[in-house]
Parts: sequence; C-alpha cells; structure tokens
Amino acid sequence: MIPEKSIQINELNELICSNRFGSFFGVTQDVFDRVWGQLSNPQGNSVVYISMEIGADPDVFHPVLDFLNEQAFTRSSDPAIQALLDNYREGPRKIPNYSGGLGVLAGDTLKSFADTHIPVMAVSLLYKEGYFSQIVDSKVGQIDQATSWSAEKTPGLFQLQDPDNPGQPLVLTVPFFNEYDHPTEAKAHVWMKMEISEELDYFVPEFLLDYSIPESPPWVQEAGLRLYNAKSAIMKANQRRMLGSCILPLKQTLGLTPNTIHLNEQHGVAVTLHLILRQLEKTMGAGYHESMTDRDIENAAKEVAKHIVYTIHTPVKAGHDRFARSLYTGISHDTCRQILNLLASDPESPHDYNFTALAMRVNRAVNSVSRLHRDVTRQQFPEFADKIKAITNGVHHLTWISGARAEVFDSTDDLSGWRDDPGIFAQDAITENAKFHRKLQQAWDKDNKTLIDYVNTMLADHRTQMVNTWIDPPNYLSHLTGDYGLDYGVFTIGFARRFSTYKRADLIFDNLKTLANILVENNWQLNLLFAGKAHPQDEPGKSVLKLILDNQEELYRRSKGLARLVFIPGYDMKIAKMMVSGVHTWLNSPKRPLEASGTSGMKAAMNGVPNLSVMDGWWVEGYHGGKTGWKFGYEGPMNDDSLSEDPATLLYAEDSASFYQLLPRVLDLFYNQPNKYLDLAVNNLQLNVPIFNTHRMAAEYVRKYNIDLEPNTAARIAGFQKLYQSDI
Ligand SMILES: *Cc1c(COP(=O)(O)O)cnc(C)c1O
Repeated sequence: MIPEKSIQINELNELICSNRFGSFFGVTQDVFDRVWGQLSNPQGNSVVYISMEIGADPDVFHPVLDFLNEQAFTRSSDPAIQALLDNYREGPRKIPNYSGGLGVLAGDTLKSFADTHIPVMAVSLLYKEGYFSQIVDSKVGQIDQATSWSAEKTPGLFQLQDPDNPGQPLVLTVPFFNEYDHPTEAKAHVWMKMEISEELDYFVPEFLLDYSIPESPPWVQEAGLRLYNAKSAIMKANQRRMLGSCILPLKQTLGLTPNTIHLNEQHGVAVTLHLILRQLEKTMGAGYHESMTDRDIENAAKEVAKHIVYTIHTPVKAGHDRFARSLYTGISHDTCRQILNLLASDPESPHDYNFTALAMRVNRAVNSVSRLHRDVTRQQFPEFADKIKAITNGVHHLTWISGARAEVFDSTDDLSGWRDDPGIFAQDAITENAKFHRKLQQAWDKDNKTLIDYVNTMLADHRTQMVNTWIDPPNYLSHLTGDYGLDYGVFTIGFARRFSTYKRADLIFDNLKTLANILVENNWQLNLLFAGKAHPQDEPGKSVLKLILDNQEELYRRSKGLARLVFIPGYDMKIAKMMVSGVHTWLNSPKRPLEASGTSGMKAAMNGVPNLSVMDGWWVEGYHGGKTGWKFGYEGPMNDDSLSEDPATLLYAEDSASFYQLLPRVLDLFYNQPNKYLDLAVNNLQLNVPIFNTHRMAAEYVRKYNIDLEPNTAARIAGFQKLYQSDI
C-alpha cells in the first residue's frame, strides 16, 4: 500500500487546472496557482534550470497515474475526462528527450525540486525525432534508427496555447541571425511537462521548445528535430543557440521571473551573451555597440555572473563545446563576437570559441559532480580552481527503487516516511532486523526473476524476428536450440550505460580464457547483462559494442556454457530500472578519473545492489571501505595520460587483471555465504541511500541559489543538507 497523499482529492476534475496558456491535468488549481505565483514573483525569487536533455519517462515514475490507480478512478461520466483517463492509463509513456546520464540526472533533479517545493522552471527542447532508436544485429552491430513518437498523444505533455488566439498554439519568437549574418526569427511551439511531486502538492514545469515548425527557417527546423544532431558543426552550434537564446523571450512571454539561472552543463550558455548585451544596453544606452570596450564587456559580465550557477559534468573533451571562430562570423553579429573573443577564448585552441571557458568565466558558482571530479576539474582549469566546488550527484529514490523493494520499505515500521526522507535509512535498526532481511531477499529474488523473464522473452522474440526481418539476433543464445535461456538465481552482473570508449564496457573480456577458467574451475554459473547506446557519430564506441557481441560465443564455449553474455538493445529508463534492481552486482569499469560521477551505480545502491567498480566518480564516496561492494583497478595519482582517451592509455591489461583477481571472491561470497552477501545490500541502504539521492543534492544546490524559501520548505531543506556535505 502506498501511503495516502497529503492532498485530498474527491473528484477527478479537481485535478484539472488552467491559466491563460491552457488547461492542464495533474494538480489542483490551488497548487497550480501557488507554483505559478512563485515563478512570477516580482523579486525573481526562483530558478530557471537549463538542460539540453531531460530524461523523465513516465513509465518509471508517474505519481498521477499511481494516484488514479490507487483511488480506482477509472470511470467518469464526462466523456472528455474519460478520454483523458484512458490516455493516462493506456497512452504512450516515453518522452525520448534524453541520451544518457546528463538527461536522466536533470529529470531526477527536477523531481526532487518538486518533492521538496523548490520554485524552479526548467527549459529544454522537444525533439520530434527524439534521440535515435537502437537496433542491434550480431553481424553489423548497432543500427541507428529514427525514433517516432508523438508529443500530442503523450499524456502529461501539454502544448501551451496563445492567450490572444484561443485554440491556437502559442508561438514563441526567438531573435536569431541566419547564416549570412542577417537578423531572422526562429519560432517555436512551447510544450509543458509538469514534473509533479509524489504528494501531488507541487510541480516543476519543464518548458520544451519545438522549433521544427513551419514558421521557423528550415535550418532551424532541422536542428531542432533530433537531440545531439552532430551532422555538421553548424547544426550543433545552432542547437546550442536555440537552447540558450530562448530563455529571455520565454520568460518574457510567460511572465515568469526567475533571477537565478542554473546551467546543467554548458550547452545553454548562450543565455549569458544575451544577458550581457542587455546589461550593456542598460548601462550604456541603445548605442552601446558603437562605443563599448573590453572593459565594459567585463563589467557587464561581472553583473551577469551574479545570476549564474554552472554544473560541469565531465572531464572528457567531447563533452565540451568548441566551435571554429570562422563558423561564428556566419551566424552572429559583431557585438556578440566581441564578447566571445573576450570570454570564450581558449589559449589551447586560439581559432575556436570554447563554451566551457565561457561558462567557467561567467558564473557565481561552479560545481563538479563528485569529490574526485572536483579535484580533476581544478587541475583542468587551474585559473578557476578556487571557485570549483563539489556537489556529488544523486538519483531520485522514488524513481529508481523497484516496486518490490518499495513494498518492503512501506511495510517496515522503522522505515516509515522513507518516501519523504531518504535519510531514514541511516539507522542501525534495519541491520539487526531479521524479518527485514528476509523480505529484502525475497524482493531481490522477485526483481531478478522479472529481469530474467524479460531477457528470456527477448531472446525468444529475436528468434522470431530473425525469421520475419533481415535482422540477425544480437545474441548468440538466440541462435542455440534447446537450452538457450538464463536461469533464475544465477549470479548476474549488470552493465549498462552509454558506449563511450572511456567507459570500457569490454574491459572484463580482455582475457576470455582467464575469465572462463575462473568459472570452470569452480563450476560457477554467471550471467552477464549488457545494454547501452553509442552516439551515432561515435565509431569507436560502436566498435566496443560490437566487440561485446563478438565475445559471446567464445565465452560460452570456453566456459562450457556456464557464462551467458546477453546484450539488451534499446537501453532506456525502463530497462535501466529493471536491470539495476534485478542483477546481483552492478559493474562499472571506466578509466579513472574519466567517469565524473556515474549515476547508474547509485540506482543499484538504492535497491541495495552492491557495486563492483573502479574507484572513480561517486564510488570513491560510496565504497565505505568495502561495506557496500568491491573496488578494482588503478587507483594511483594522475599523470599526463590520465585524461586521455587514446587507446594506448586505457589501461586494459592492468585493470582487467585486477578484476580477475577479485571476481572469485565475489562469486564465492554469493554462492557460499548468501547471508554475508545480503549484508552488503543492507549496508547500501543504510550508508548510500541517505547520500546519493537527489533530495540531498537539490538541497546542496539550494545553497548556491540565494533564494528565500517558505519557512516549511527551508526547514525541510535544512534537514536534507545535513545528510551529507559533498565539498569536504
Ligand atoms: C542512469 C542512466 C544513465 C546513466 O548511467 P551512468 O552510469 O551515469 O553512465 C544512462 N542511461 C539511462 C537510460 C539511465 O537510466
């Protein structure tokens, strides 16, 4: 039983709310007015959170749908409400506006802002073709397919209406410069997704801009269609501009006033250019561009910086936008370039603008996403070392804890209130409670069964698909006759994340013979489940994926069928949730220190699943001397090669050898000392859930925001801030 909501709803239409931009569903009019009122407060006492991607698929967290199901609200005499209900229950549940960790983190963060009542609006783009869909063929590897989805049909997404033209969509105008340096206008429809709190008593609106409408110039339409479309540098640059340049017009059109801007990675940093221009105009008058000096720009930037909070997410070069200066002579006016020359310069590449440098310069707070990443970022940007702080990432516990685990927590008295406060887990009572241990083990077994059933059904489906299409099943097991599936209760390792070379998905297959021998000598069965997408332009990443497929048969044969390696195509949040809760350990084998944080391991920890990981990113903080899992691989100091992704510097032999040394201990514990294995799970709940959740993380961000909170909210946030201090 999910505990009752604090808000009383007796009739469905109490969840309908509206304002001059349309009519929405999910919160009461009171809640809607309260939030909108805070976001339009004349003092600007709120935050706009800008992110290129937001991952918040309703199929893994949907408090409105849970509420409808709990209340058995299934029928209405009003046909309009009935249609809405049907759509909520049966309509699409995926919003493919994310590619990986950055987007999912954004979604998790916004959910925690909603749960803790922090006044925030988010801005991102709505990509009609989403991110690509992944098909996998054993001979070809990853095949990229366009994604088709429909925002119109997706419940919980609302298109804002034009207040002056009832029934017509709102069209936002964003001033732009075209490829010949002429002023033009980009146009966008504005969609709103409400990230609604678990209690239905607050929400964070996400405004998603759809630029692929006929009113926009064709090149804008094209750039807005697909997330991270990197077909050309100019397409990429335009996508960034579309995100950063819409912020001021959007606030103006909606009458919203947030004064603090949070850049989730530097993609939207163009907003600072517009703010600097506005500031120059304010201090120097309309003719500022005739007479402005570098000094004037610097002073304006200093003013603007007071409003910017910036999170940097990666030490990997591909994560930082650099564009040729020559490209910008085509798409921006002189004044803008004068600012970029000054603030986006990069001594390492004098012919480029570096947008990370711009974001680094224009802010009042920069944070990295773990302690180790803070140290690395300081080394990468020594000029800014003093202001770079750590706020370690988290995950939204209500999204990532499986249904079976949640049932156990709901029925454990010591944990009552865990939904509101993930800090509750920090107590000894659960380590001593035998009944709790038993129920946790049962929930784990249940989640393992769900996952294995899913995989076995998939393997069978791929066999049919082989007959019906030209696609060769990605998994060797699908080609076997007879006993081709996976068994319940077999030690299962999970690995799923984007396929970038530095994440080294293939590390543990570096020496198949050694790996197989460990299993054969002890007669240990092992399931290895892998998933993840490589960016369509990332050929090395695709090769790693293909290598995983190519290892399957040899590993199977060498291990005499004990090891079964399966690749699950189409990684998304739903698959992630099933995997992190259904496996027995979560593998993380990046090259240290390139995984700035990593969040999938935190999702596993939320379910009590121990991590088996290189000492990188969050795991340095989550390892607790071995109480919550295992570490392997190089841990030494950084050298000149540390930040390189060059294949010669990726340390395969060293780190895989360390893994093979460790693995027998892990398997022995699992098969021979199950109670001790379960202790690791309980330790994860006790030690890691209270730290690596986004409620705590959001609270740490609030410190940087300088906003006045309502007394109740402030008190609650103070409690979350006490749970952990990242920056020590
Ligand atoms: C959590 C998540 C990620 C990020 O995983 P990392 O470990 O941070 O790389 C990527 N994709 C999906 C679908 C996720 O749920």
